[in-house]
Amino acid sequence: MAEESLLDSALVRLDDAARHLNVDADVIEKLKYPRETTKARLMIRMDDGSRKSFLAWRCRYDDTRGPTKGGIRFHPDATAEEVEMLAFWMTFKCAVMNLPYGGGKGAVQVDPRQLSKAELERLSRAYIQAFAGIIGPDRDIPAPDVYTNSMIMGWMADEYSQIVGKSSPAVITGKPLALGGSVGRGDATARGGYYLVRHLAQELGLNGKLRIAIQGFGNAGQYIASLLAGDGHTIVAVSDSGGAVHSAEGLSLDTLMAAKNDNRSVVYTAGKDGHEAIAADDLVGVDCDILVPAALENMIHKHNAHTVKARLVLELANGPVTPEADEILAERNVVVLPDILANAGGVTVSYFEWVQNKQGYYWELEEIHTKLRTIMEREGRAIWQLSVDRGTTPRTAAYVHALNRLAEAIEAHGTQS
Ligand code: GLU
Repeated sequence: MAEESLLDSALVRLDDAARHLNVDADVIEKLKYPRETTKARLMIRMDDGSRKSFLAWRCRYDDTRGPTKGGIRFHPDATAEEVEMLAFWMTFKCAVMNLPYGGGKGAVQVDPRQLSKAELERLSRAYIQAFAGIIGPDRDIPAPDVYTNSMIMGWMADEYSQIVGKSSPAVITGKPLALGGSVGRGDATARGGYYLVRHLAQELGLNGKLRIAIQGFGNAGQYIASLLAGDGHTIVAVSDSGGAVHSAEGLSLDTLMAAKNDNRSVVYTAGKDGHEAIAADDLVGVDCDILVPAALENMIHKHNAHTVKARLVLELANGPVTPEADEILAERNVVVLPDILANAGGVTVSYFEWVQNKQGYYWELEEIHTKLRTIMEREGRAIWQLSVDRGTTPRTAAYVHALNRLAEAIEAHGTQS
């Protein structure tokens, strides 16, 4: 896809929502463009003594509802356009969940798997040195995303605290517990999606033992597998960047996790415990009840959407279904629970972490789970009802729900902002 069209393809959903709401043209004009995108070239010293540079960005898309919030991605294919699209989605995600945040996102164009731990730390600190003037606990709050994790957030929070000369844990969420992280942040993305599916199971016609296929076996993919398997459902297929495995009788989670803990692809489990290798591209069409895209954008597109056999697509990734694929799935009566709702558990527990950092008082795991479940069910129910009342897909309903809140805030700011 050409770079310029990435944000445009995300804006299709804004146009669609605007058709269902009587919002002022000013509101759409404000939400059509990112407020600011800053680019930097990060220079780091490699272990062999050489110097290497990496492109990096931070986008603050819209801060009408509060400080901008969103993860930092380390990926070799990251671009400015992609960061802006992801920041647009964060704006709507935070509004869907009624969190007091706008949307932002950051990225470094790098394959972190090619770096040593020391190089990765230098790169993470260089990112904060470059963007320290943009981020801040009440301005822009990063978090983990694809190929970043709590260890990286810990280095980043430490670097920021050193630069500003005081402990500032609320500048970044998804930190290690020892540095002011929150219990329950690790599995929050998957857990939010899990609570949502459980809450809407009846409406979705889901009962009995379900078969699940999961695309992407990183943080979100691994946790959703164990949460659903814990309820007695069967994981029939999983994939990662190295390949895919399938078993109609059910894959062994222990075997899959053992491969991951050895830094190996799930494909290395083929031949064990009835696992058979399949082409990664075939995962989308595996016979199952729930398909969980938990990897990258645009994985379900106009060329494979007609192969989907699942009744439900639970978007734990950001933007895994293209607008063309959305139409094909809707025609085929496949329900899609959209990313800005389905994967919002992550940013919701990030919000809890930020609140705990600000008040310096830390909550128990049970409290986190109860609060997360309450919000997922409240917003999930409202969106489901809206989709029934308006006869739209849950995605359109989620955008309408968020746009309503964004429009109210934009109007409340007055005409000078
Ligand atoms: N990267 C996650 C997302 O896309 C989490 C963002 C956050 O916690 O701020 O929602």
